[in-house]
Amino acid sequence: MGPRPMVDISAIGITCAECGAPIDKLPFEPTKKEDGTFGRLYCYECNKARMRDRGPRRDFRR
Ligand SMILES: [Zn+2]
Repeated sequence: MGPRPMVDISAIGITCAECGAPIDKLPFEPTKKEDGTFGRLYCYECNKARMRDRGPRRDFRR
């Protein structure tokens, strides 16, 4: 495993769903949904915070 390739998405103009900061790079290619948006995407910092809140991989069932 090498370092994750970052995808430059600055041309798309996505902003973070949490703090509203512009996102110019993601560790994955965002996919457009049927409604024409990319869904909720988070900047690096918010992603990190969310990962920490959620903890390591957990079952999504309640
Ligand atoms: Zn953010």
